[in-house]
Amino acid sequence: MHVCSTDTSGEIVDGLFYWVLGHPDDMFEDYQEEDYGEKIIFVPSDPDGYPARPIVEKRDRKDIFGCPADKTHRTRQLLQGISIVVEAGGTLPVFWNTENFFVMNDAIETMKKAGLRGTDCIRPKFETEVYTDQEMRDDLRVMTFPGGDILRPYRVTPPGADNCPFCGRVPIVCQTCGHINRSCPKCNKQIITVKKDLPTDSPLVRIRVDDNSVLDGSRWDGSDFLNPSLITRRALKLFQQENIGPCTALNCATYLGSCTPEQRDKLGEMSGLPL
Ligand SMILES: [Zn+2]
Ligand SMILES: [Zn+2]
Repeated sequence: MHVCSTDTSGEIVDGLFYWVLGHPDDMFEDYQEEDYGEKIIFVPSDPDGYPARPIVEKRDRKDIFGCPADKTHRTRQLLQGISIVVEAGGTLPVFWNTENFFVMNDAIETMKKAGLRGTDCIRPKFETEVYTDQEMRDDLRVMTFPGGDILRPYRVTPPGADNCPFCGRVPIVCQTCGHINRSCPKCNKQIITVKKDLPTDSPLVRIRVDDNSVLDGSRWDGSDFLNPSLITRRALKLFQQENIGPCTALNCATYLGSCTPEQRDKLGEMSGLPL
């Protein structure tokens, strides 16, 4: 049977990039008691945040295409607009609400001053003014994480099987941007399945979606805030130093084998780690 899964071969390092998630304060304190070393890091919140939580009513996102190998591959999504209501409780300035990263303008200024890149924000539209005041409405921003997706492209095993099993005319995984052809753009047949109990002679390729993801360091464009919700170690250090939270940062492994010496130097400089 053919399998499409995260490629964990080669030189892989921890501590360069983190998935960032938020927690309501009440949950947060339970987690904080355990020590997960550098794998999971909890950043407490600034006690001066607004005692309120944004709830997303509507978001407007634009698909960005532009893979050099195939222009039909979507390489990222950019947030263009967001409508919210506010409920009492919780703490800002940084709060993760399902998919979005709300932040106070002061925290953005702190990030810019520290030289972080990709701090582009939009201003949310308040559907009602309940639990808000003018100061908060002027202050609140939503981060857009504009840096390109740097997931390492999946690999199909056994080697040599990375082509449509029906017509053989199309690679299943784009090794430039990581796009996966779930069905074949040439013969239109379904290629990928998530089913685990496939018969051994099935031509379908099983995708393993529950693996931990791996990034490809050579795809990094220098941004500190990357699609869909990754931050650099440099950004995390600033969050810790300035109490920009509450949020949780989960280590995401990075493959370095594809990096040029210059790309490796840039990652070393960003993280302060010996690479
Ligand atoms: Zn085909
Ligand atoms: Zn592509």
